[in-house]
Parts: sequence; C-alpha cells; structure tokens
Amino acid sequence: MQTNKNAQCKKCLNKFYQKDIYTIQQFQYKKEPKYKWSVNFFKKLEIDEWDSFCEECITDYSKKLDNAWNNQKTNI
Ligand SMILES: [Zn+2]
Repeated sequence: MQTNKNAQCKKCLNKFYQKDIYTIQQFQYKKEPKYKWSVNFFKKLEIDEWDSFCEECITDYSKKLDNAWNNQKTNI
C-alpha cells in the first residue's frame, strides 16, 4: 500500500496523497455548465481531464468555471 505523498497538484505544486487527487472530471456531475463546455473551458487554461489537483485548487477552478459560465450566459 502506497502511503507516500507522491501525487502533485499541477497548480500549487503541493504534494499530497494519491487518494486525495481531484481532476476536472468531477465537473461532469455538475448540473451546468455541460461537461463538454467545462472541458473546453479548461482546455483554454491548458488543463486536461487527467491533470491532478488538490482539493483547494479544484475548488478554486470550480468557482472560475461558474463565473465564466455565468458571464457567457449574460452575454447571449
Ligand atoms: Zn493545489
């Protein structure tokens, strides 16, 4: 069993446990925006579905995603 902190957050570069990894794939459970929209949004930030993030950074990205989504809705 691997107990070392051998995973690394792509954003803050902190080390953490493999089991605590978050990826943008969790956003597919969001009601909106649609996951495809989210993936495109993160592609622009050079983040793909396999990048690892800690909980703090994924929460931050979640907020960014919601903001971008709300902004583009009001721009229609
Ligand atoms: Zn992080």
